[in-house]
Amino acid sequence: MTQTSVQTTHYVPADLPTSIRHFIGGEFVDSVGGETFDVLDPVSNQTYATAAAGQQADIDLAVAAAKEAFSSGPWPRLLPRARARVLHRIADAVEAQDARLAELETFDTGLPITQALGQAQRAAENFRFFADLIVAQADDTYKVPGKQINYVNRKPVGVAGLITPWNTPFMLESWKLAPALASGCTVVLKPAEFTPLSASLWSEIFRTAGVPDGVFNLVNGIGEEAGDALVKHPDVPLISFTGETTTGQTIYRNCAANLKGMSMELGGKSPAVVFADADLDAAIDSTLFGVFSLNGERCTASSRILVERSIYDDFCARYAARAASIVVGDPHDPKTEVGALVHPEHYAKVMSYVEIGKTEGRLLAGGGRPDGLPEGNYVSPTVFADVAPTARIFQEEIFGPVVAITPFDTDAEALALANGVKYGLAAYIWTTDLTRAHNFAQSVDAGMVWLNSHNVRDLRTPFGGVKASGLGHEGGYRSIDFYTDSQAVHITL
Ligand code: NAD
Repeated sequence: MTQTSVQTTHYVPADLPTSIRHFIGGEFVDSVGGETFDVLDPVSNQTYATAAAGQQADIDLAVAAAKEAFSSGPWPRLLPRARARVLHRIADAVEAQDARLAELETFDTGLPITQALGQAQRAAENFRFFADLIVAQADDTYKVPGKQINYVNRKPVGVAGLITPWNTPFMLESWKLAPALASGCTVVLKPAEFTPLSASLWSEIFRTAGVPDGVFNLVNGIGEEAGDALVKHPDVPLISFTGETTTGQTIYRNCAANLKGMSMELGGKSPAVVFADADLDAAIDSTLFGVFSLNGERCTASSRILVERSIYDDFCARYAARAASIVVGDPHDPKTEVGALVHPEHYAKVMSYVEIGKTEGRLLAGGGRPDGLPEGNYVSPTVFADVAPTARIFQEEIFGPVVAITPFDTDAEALALANGVKYGLAAYIWTTDLTRAHNFAQSVDAGMVWLNSHNVRDLRTPFGGVKASGLGHEGGYRSIDFYTDSQAVHITL
């Protein structure tokens, strides 16, 4: 089947910066040694800007600024209500930039513009949520009558190191920045080197909202340079990291020397399990969304679909026809449903899995570059059926628009297949039998489970994975717990 594609004139947002700088101690600065790296856009794969490439010296300056703001500045000492007011001003400013943020994010990441719109609203919501949470925060007090009072004195930990990936970068940065700042920490953010553009908006937003100098610091750069220096810095007591599992393992090792607090949101290979009694229309819609929205560059992507054998052939045929009709093309075209993958290196990785898949499964849709799009990092939504659980495309995270479909005969087999990978981030279960749904949910190795639904969640719920998908949870009070120490104070009466 030929993939539907649109090719429009490549849209370049107005007023694009040609250089992207660090923000340290309230000032925009270049790297001390002048190092830079090139930033490409994923449609032309041409350099549109150079970004300052942070080194040890730049991280030292950023951490020193954050440490000074923490030890002597007002931020950690403000009443929660006062910090919350600043956070709400940040949310207002972020919301007001939705259209601008979407065009920058789409240009830098290749996400379809219709999916990038709304990212600012999500980011703003994170700030509002944590602003409200700290105002309502209560801590425990225990009384031993006639003997003791014990209470919890919650304190911000200090300088938080925040390291983020390139998928939905601005929104994911907000997911760390909001609770860290709400808790009274000061921060050094190291955004992903593939997509530094939208992160550069934070500096002005924070300054205008009244965040004191030194509280928010941004150091751009390569993971093995700037990221590594941040992880190893002795004055940074905790690291919140979102990214690949292998990077998480390196960071885990490097945090050991200083016994740092760590939050790790890592990779996934999440199953969608479709039983024969499911609402098939809804399951097909959802599983298409699950792996083809956000270009398949989604940590919770349902990249393995397990289908009960009695509906398997019907499911595969309908699914493949829908995948082939997905519109691939210029990310800025509102008709586009799958845009360009973030970077040529990532494109090459995803394409290599497409070729591996051709030897491991039955190709039903896609399988390469769509016709009519000779340039840019475009991959047709690709569907493989009859994929064995030993296959690499079943086991390994591809992080692109590629899905593996596998049949099962019994509930026990479905569970074994679902759990038969090293990851455990999310699982999606489609059945109208609620007893089966709950039993399956409680047995599946996944930090998050959606029953007959996908990806909508209340911000109070825990977000995170098990097994190789992560360590610790973000979300609600769990984030505040991460960025604060709970000191126990005991008073003898
Ligand atoms: P990545 O691990 O390559 O990079 C993530 C960040 O880590 C970047 O800022 C990078 O510069 C930095 N980094 C790389 N090496 C480092 C090192 N040695 N020390 C310190 N920092 C280092 O990940 P990516 O390719 O940017 O993102 C995609 C991955 O992120 C996928 O595996 C995806 O599943 C995962 N992800 C997980 C979640 C989640 O919540 N579980 C959310 C989004 C993305």
